[in-house]
Amino acid sequence: MSTPTIGVLALQGDVAEHLRALEVCGARAVPVRRPSELADVDALLLPGGESTTIDKLLRAFGLMQPLRERIAAGMPAYGSCAGMILLADRIEDGMAGQQTVGGIDMVVRRNAFGRQVDSFEATVAIATIGGAPFHAVFIRAPWVESVSADVEVLARVESGPAAGRIVAVRQGTLVATSFHPEVTGDLRVHEYFVSLVREGAPSTAPASPIDTA
Ligand code: GLN
Repeated sequence: MSTPTIGVLALQGDVAEHLRALEVCGARAVPVRRPSELADVDALLLPGGESTTIDKLLRAFGLMQPLRERIAAGMPAYGSCAGMILLADRIEDGMAGQQTVGGIDMVVRRNAFGRQVDSFEATVAIATIGGAPFHAVFIRAPWVESVSADVEVLARVESGPAAGRIVAVRQGTLVATSFHPEVTGDLRVHEYFVSLVREGAPSTAPASPIDTA
């Protein structure tokens, strides 16, 4: 699969930036709004936006069930911010009745950084990706409260009041980040995802059995 077709869920949120980033990384990137479009992609990116709205639109557009089925069947997916919330099996501080697509065996807390630090920027190192730490932009972001043994923690906040909180994870070919890599021009997360789509997940087991922030 030298040029995979990667969809960007285009119901709400910052779709155009992700389409561009994926194209630069060598994928064919297409917006996905309908079940027939989902059926045609090799992988899906779920962008930031508002997870409660995207949840409602997924159900209204008849995409929730097909998306759950594709993910259960092994389709790679990457979720940023609201997309991370949507890929979580369980959430905290969701709206009443809020559903997720699920797929990653983790608990994610919505708007976790609180009102004081609604949006902020921090440096975040992702050892698996390597190179210089990321300049990570968080916008009313979630964090990961806890993960199961099957989930690899890719990054944590390094300093400040939220130090130690998990902000990037991978389970198989499902990846999620609390931050928005599409706004900084640093395309290493998109490159990492495109390489997972091309090559599949590395077989190395995560280091620790249970990891709680
Ligand atoms: N707070 C938003 C939510 O709950 C996520 C914000 C974002 O995606 N930038 O969905």
